[in-house]
Amino acid sequence: MQAAIVAVGSELLGVDRLDTNSLGLTRVLRRFGVDLRSKQVLGDSVQDIAASLKRLVGEVDLVLVTGGLGPTADDVTRDAISAAFSLALETEPAILESIEKRFGRLGWKIPAVNHRQALVPEGAKWIANDRGTAPAIELEEEGCTFFFFPGVPRELEGLIESWLEPWLDERSAEGGIEQHTLRVACVAESRVEELISPAYDEMGRENITVLAKPGEIQIRVSASGPAASRAAVLARGIERLRDLVGDAAYGVGGDNDLETVVGGLLTARGATVATAESCTGGLVSQRLTAVAGSSRYFLGGVVAYSNEAKERLLDIDGQEIEELGAVSREVAVAMARGALGRFGADYGLGVTGVAGPDGGTAAKPVGTVHLAVVHREGSCRHHQGRFPGHRERVRWLSSQWLLDLLRRELLGIEAAS
Ligand code: AMP
Ligand code: MG
Repeated sequence: MQAAIVAVGSELLGVDRLDTNSLGLTRVLRRFGVDLRSKQVLGDSVQDIAASLKRLVGEVDLVLVTGGLGPTADDVTRDAISAAFSLALETEPAILESIEKRFGRLGWKIPAVNHRQALVPEGAKWIANDRGTAPAIELEEEGCTFFFFPGVPRELEGLIESWLEPWLDERSAEGGIEQHTLRVACVAESRVEELISPAYDEMGRENITVLAKPGEIQIRVSASGPAASRAAVLARGIERLRDLVGDAAYGVGGDNDLETVVGGLLTARGATVATAESCTGGLVSQRLTAVAGSSRYFLGGVVAYSNEAKERLLDIDGQEIEELGAVSREVAVAMARGALGRFGADYGLGVTGVAGPDGGTAAKPVGTVHLAVVHREGSCRHHQGRFPGHRERVRWLSSQWLLDLLRRELLGIEAAS
């Protein structure tokens, strides 16, 4: 089966909004072994959309369209269907009724503009959308199947699950592709490449993709074939890569970022953590608390930017800061100890550095960051980073390295090389 995706919405042609719907759709198509041939973004123009729909009939078997089903004047996907295939739009009473009910629950009458959402091209099927007012539309045209989905990502997700996946499941010949991702923190891409090189021969070069992000490398393994054998191949592949990469591999899967993994480790140990941040301005606390359930282990944090704040809020000796400089191993450790003491936590984290673009010196250039993790019973880990890049990047890398330092401390494994 060959497919195309069309994302409709003039906002997607601007600079503020990116088409992300096609990513979720692509993931599903891959899983069912559907060959995606093209992807396009179109503005809210009846002419453009209609022309594209007509052209795709001859090119692919399945077309997935998102957007333009809303109630406002710029939502013209229905009109484009009508224009492309000369189909009249008919009001479907059942849709009208469900929209009326939806508004009724809020104590409102159905606004006149929403009547348009009950229009369905003649001969097309409509698909209930329990997350919004716009139903999806399924249409068959000369052997090509069209799905028109609402653009709101949450509504689309619901319809993918309730309609698209079962539809593909019925038609797929067990030829899907699936991917698993091994996540690796704080190692250079070239080093990861070196470590995993034996896997290319073992698993096939085309089945491994390495994706570099700031402070993180993601290794994707792909497997195709029937679902059961795919799962086994992926599990073996991830295990092998884990062996090759070693301790730097911290998790598997898109949802498992470093803060989530660290949160899991803290929860499992019943341990608590507190932070003292200078150059990251709260980013480490932000990341730790972005994880649901973080109240179990995150006690609190201090953003101590000035030397006075470090003295007063974290009980650091002003003389020490004066002599060693605020960006130093000793101050990072003292900050971590200060946080630990102030909050009564099991672990204290400290970070102080030069994020730039100003403030660097020959001895401490921009990107110099000291990170510390201390434990209540006295153990202490320190890392000095020399992070490249602009301010935001230095701050992000600092948070990444500090969370990884905590992960290593919690697991009792060696520091990153
Ligand atoms: P629409 O169905 O065209 O009314 O779209 C509703 C909202 O969904 C838009 O305002 C966008 O914020 C969002 N949206 C539409 N299309 C996409 C897309 N391809 N990717 C991400 N968000 C989208
Ligand atoms: Mg729109």
